[in-house]
Amino acid sequence: MTVLTWFFHELPDGWLVRVGSPKGHRIVDKNIKLFDEVTTEDICAFREFERKRSEAFRYHEDWGDLRYLLELEMEHPMWEEESEKCLACGICNLVCPTCRCYEVQDIVNLDGVTGYRERRWDSCQFRSHGLVAGGHNFRPTKKDRFMNRYLCKNSYNQKLGLSFCVGCGRCTAFCPAGISFVRNLRVILGLEERTCPGKIVEEIPKRGFAYAKNIRGEDV
Ligand code: SF4
Ligand code: SF4
Repeated sequence: MTVLTWFFHELPDGWLVRVGSPKGHRIVDKNIKLFDEVTTEDICAFREFERKRSEAFRYHEDWGDLRYLLELEMEHPMWEEESEKCLACGICNLVCPTCRCYEVQDIVNLDGVTGYRERRWDSCQFRSHGLVAGGHNFRPTKKDRFMNRYLCKNSYNQKLGLSFCVGCGRCTAFCPAGISFVRNLRVILGLEERTCPGKIVEEIPKRGFAYAKNIRGEDV
């Protein structure tokens, strides 16, 4: 299991170092001259930094049901509209701290006899990523590949029950087509605009109460 050795919190005149493992403590002990005692000002600066960081996160929704909605909303018009804009450049994968897909290539040397096998970063937005022997492709269209990234981050994780997206926003900041990952997820969640007919929305409380019965069928 990987444990945190050190974590650096930026302060105006240095760093507050959080130590998270016995190894981290050993390194501190050996290099104690590099460290100063934490002062009241340091604590204030740390608290202020954390407050600003928390405020920088604009979205605080409950994303718990996102993976189910993504799977249920495969026909949502957002997929067509947004994937149409996508240039399939793969930058979103390149800048993402949790993208981990790779390809394996056999490189033959000029002598035609020797060579080596190389593992390289790959992007699920490239047509070649889903290409297999015989010219078959698991995700032949740009829309298939576009959807895959959203599902991979938020739906292919049922065992962990976590999103693989850490919310850093890099894929949105660097996308040359101006596609917003978080906005598109909010569209699926129905947070950008109401997508359900008003009649269904009005009936939801009634249906919810109908389920709220105890084992004897009494309302609870
Ligand atoms: S960075 Fe934007 S345009 Fe490029 S593949 Fe990703 S979503 Fe498409
Ligand atoms: S916002 Fe999520 S999907 Fe986008 S780069 Fe950050 S971790 Fe990856």
